[in-house]
Amino acid sequence: MASDTEPNLTFFNGTSTIGGVQASVQIGDSAVFFDFGITPNPTGALFSRSSPAPVVGSLAAHLRAGMAPLVEGLYDPAQLAATGGSVASTVEPMAGRGRMLDQSSVLEHAKNTAIFVSHIHNDHCELLPFASPDVPVLMSADSAALYAGLTDVGALRPTPASVRGLVDGEHVSIGGMDLELIHVDHDIPGAAGFILQAGDRRIAWTGDWRAHGHVPERMAAFAERAAGVDLLITEGTTLRPDSSPAQSLSETEVAQRADRILTTTDGLAFVTPYPRNLRRLASLRDAAAANGRTLVLRHETLAGWRAAVTHGLSAPHPNDGGAPVAVLATGDANTHPTAGHTQVTIDDLRQNRNDFLVELQVPDRWVALAVGAGPDDVLIHSNGQPLGSWDPEWTSLMAWVQALGLDFVWLDSGGHAAPDDLAWLVETIRPTSIAAVHSAHPQLFPRTSAQLILPTRGQPFTLSDRLPRALGTRGADVERTMIPCVL
Ligand SMILES: [Zn+2]
Repeated sequence: MASDTEPNLTFFNGTSTIGGVQASVQIGDSAVFFDFGITPNPTGALFSRSSPAPVVGSLAAHLRAGMAPLVEGLYDPAQLAATGGSVASTVEPMAGRGRMLDQSSVLEHAKNTAIFVSHIHNDHCELLPFASPDVPVLMSADSAALYAGLTDVGALRPTPASVRGLVDGEHVSIGGMDLELIHVDHDIPGAAGFILQAGDRRIAWTGDWRAHGHVPERMAAFAERAAGVDLLITEGTTLRPDSSPAQSLSETEVAQRADRILTTTDGLAFVTPYPRNLRRLASLRDAAAANGRTLVLRHETLAGWRAAVTHGLSAPHPNDGGAPVAVLATGDANTHPTAGHTQVTIDDLRQNRNDFLVELQVPDRWVALAVGAGPDDVLIHSNGQPLGSWDPEWTSLMAWVQALGLDFVWLDSGGHAAPDDLAWLVETIRPTSIAAVHSAHPQLFPRTSAQLILPTRGQPFTLSDRLPRALGTRGADVERTMIPCVL
């Protein structure tokens, strides 16, 4: 049972699927909820790209679908007015005997509540438009700038809550708890985790992380500061039952290979990056410049980047380092102002094929036809959409590549920690226990000296509940409660 010294932990979602981690630590009248997104996995969430949530009544639909924590006071009351004003009244249709939420209890509001968002990927922040204006949202200062910028250009919906951006190492009190934000290495600016002092327990949350990105030294710093925590909550995205995935290329290797590809290309070069991986965009910009080319971005991508800078994003900036970034003169420049950047036209691309590296995303593929793309031209697929061959859109991409005869290059550096790096983090921090989440196969977490906890979705527990035995032995102590649950 919870006490003044022993926090309750609850994992609402994201325990056995990639993305959509929703958890809380509560002690007395203080609670912190983290993160606040939704898994994109259609087997892990009832609403997805193929089965979208309604625009009107979206919060109610998400609550009824079990895709948001059932907690009073966490959400914008105005968005619950049509369904009785409370979470309990909203989910009532699905809470009846035998219904999906039959066994799910609605938690009471804690007086001192905060939401923590580790980074601005949708599977970690997509619930923010539903948050209560009375609940502070904590994230890194760079995440706050990126979120504000992306909402400015319509890439994300704004939140009614007040967002507080924290710098690395900054502490915040949530009632009786102390939260310290710590930067991590991930494939988006601003990614961060925390160390939480809750009563007698120290709990660390990594958010999404990797050790092969632009700032791997952040993980060593995270490990140092989290040394000896009672519980380390980490992602386990790369854990799979088949052979371990090959070690991802580092961001440095991606930049080097991009440079080599451009050096050997005599024709147009297209690239499909993930638009929020701004460090990757900066690397591509620099590789292009080193080869006498200019990176040409979509209006939407450049406008979001510029807006984030306007809101205080520390780095990178579109024109730092001296190399210019241009914008393709096809987007809606009135909606997404990118004044001050060179506008490159379709004719420019046609006539000066060796002068550009052009961002090409799914909605822009017509550009390849307009510029007469062919076998001399290269398409570098660099963590943009589609994310892999399992994505239904992959077939379309391959059709384009084949029909046009493009030279296709897969140049990928994942955002997630390899299994060996997961083990390294645990052995460096030496926590008493680990909770593996954000994973389809958390039970495959590498064996380490720490006790593995696989939380049961929606069931509160304390660390004393889960650590009743002597520590220091492996295997026999490992908790392997699986979750027979669709969400
Ligand atoms: Zn992420």
